[in-house]
Order: sequence, then C-alpha cells, then structure tokens
Amino acid sequence: MSNIIRTPEEIAARVKALESILIEKGLMTTQMVDRLVEIYENEVGPQLGAQVIAKAWTDPAFKARLLEDATEACKELGISGLQGEDMVALEDTDEVHHAVVCTLCSCYPWPVMGLPPNWYKEPQYRSRMVREPRKVLADEFGYEIPDTKEIRIWDSSSEMRYWVLPQRPAGTDGWTEEQLAALVTRDSMIGVGPVKAAS
Ligand code: FE
Repeated sequence: MSNIIRTPEEIAARVKALESILIEKGLMTTQMVDRLVEIYENEVGPQLGAQVIAKAWTDPAFKARLLEDATEACKELGISGLQGEDMVALEDTDEVHHAVVCTLCSCYPWPVMGLPPNWYKEPQYRSRMVREPRKVLADEFGYEIPDTKEIRIWDSSSEMRYWVLPQRPAGTDGWTEEQLAALVTRDSMIGVGPVKAAS
C-alpha cells in the first residue's frame, strides 16, 4: 500500500473493489468476507492480548516463552491466526519503553489485538512516530515518557508483527490473571499509552 490512499472513502472503495475481485475469482464468498469482518470486529480483539500479558505477569516460565517466540506461546492459550504468524513481544523495563508502528502500511498482530485503530494507519503517525516518538506520545497521546527512559520504535511488517509486554503495575501483588488482564489496554500493547493503575 502507498500514501496515495488518503481518505476513508478511498480506502473503502479500494476494499470494496478487492472484495469484488476475490468473490468474482471464486477465492472468497460474500459470506466468508462477512464472517471474517465479524470475527475481527467482535470476537478477536485486545482482550486476547490482555490475557496473554496477564499470564506473562504471573508466570515467569510463560513470560520467557512469550519473549522467545510469541506466536508459539500464544498458541498455548489457543490464540493464533491470520496476521499473527510471526509475532514478537517486546518487554518494557525501567530503562526501555517500546512502541510499535508500521511505517509502510498498517501491519499489526491481529490474533492478540484485533484490527488496528484508524490513527495507526495514518501517514502522520507512521512517519512522525519514527522521527520524534517522545513528542508524538506526549502531544498526541498525552503519554509522557521520562527523559531517563530510552524509547525504542519497532517497525512491524508482514514478516514480523511486534507488540509490547508492558510493565506490571505496582500494587497488584496476589492479583488473579483475570484482574490483571482488566488493567491491560490496547494502547499499552502498542506502546502509546499506559496500563491502568491498580485501584
Ligand atoms: Fe504494514
């Protein structure tokens, strides 16, 4: 995909055209398209990624496997699928904050996050996030990263789809995975926002 596509109308028109071709060629049926959209709009979403993060926060052996091979680790939890064949999880620490972008288009780990938010596909986010991440995070997302912390930007592609394992919030000792998962936000897994605080 290129920067030629600008407006949501143009994108919609292009998607419609693609869909027509696939159906015409017999590669897909209208029902298959509808079902796919339904799955990625309603069933697969960041709540699945949140489960994985919560498990990593409570199970060090699982966390090690997640950082080693996120795709395989997610399969242990029954999470896998389209656009998630080569996922890489990046661990935030006191020293390093990770954030993810796709400079070319909008590559995103669907099985753990669902479909990407619109701003993730905008040329502005894609280019500025690489040039001045600290400023974009502060100005566009209201998310201040301390100057003492290094920010690393990861460029997702169709080969490799990154997401972030944020730091476990303080004050959550003894919490269940379910309680912890509720603190994990979509933005925290992209690296553009915090996890929720324990309360
Ligand atoms: Fe992409």
